[in-house]
Amino acid sequence: MFAGQLEMENGYLKVDDRMHTSLPGVYAAGESADSHFKQVITSAGMGAAAAIEATRFLEQEAG
Ligand SMILES: Cc1cc2nc3c(=O)[nH]c(=O)nc-3n(C[C@H](O)[C@H](O)[C@H](O)COP(=O)(O)OP(=O)(O)OC[C@H]3O[C@@H](n4cnc5c(N)ncnc54)[C@H](O)[C@@H]3O)c2cc1C
Repeated sequence: MFAGQLEMENGYLKVDDRMHTSLPGVYAAGESADSHFKQVITSAGMGAAAAIEATRFLEQEAG
């Protein structure tokens, strides 16, 4: 559903090590962005990291 909107790699959303997608302010986590580990604990960790980054993005936007 994100093809053509967010950069992808082999069917997975491409993220950097802080869960940033190719679009500023949009983050991805878990199996949508992880072709390697595919475990509950790694997905949850990625989700926590993405949430922290999203909060920081919104704080910066708010000035
Ligand atoms: C049979 C099986 C056994 C597994 N056993 C283990 C195990 O023993 N240990 C382990 O660590 N991992 C296991 N896993 C893997 C683990 O379940 C996944 O890695 C983990 O659930 C990924 O979490 P996620 O949040 O990325 O995705 P998901 O848990 O799949 O959550 C994605 C959510 O998004 C929802 N969704 C999808 N499309 C849309 C949409 N268009 N709009 C709104 N919502 C949408 C789905 O309904 C779902 O609730 C197993 C997986 C399977 C299939």
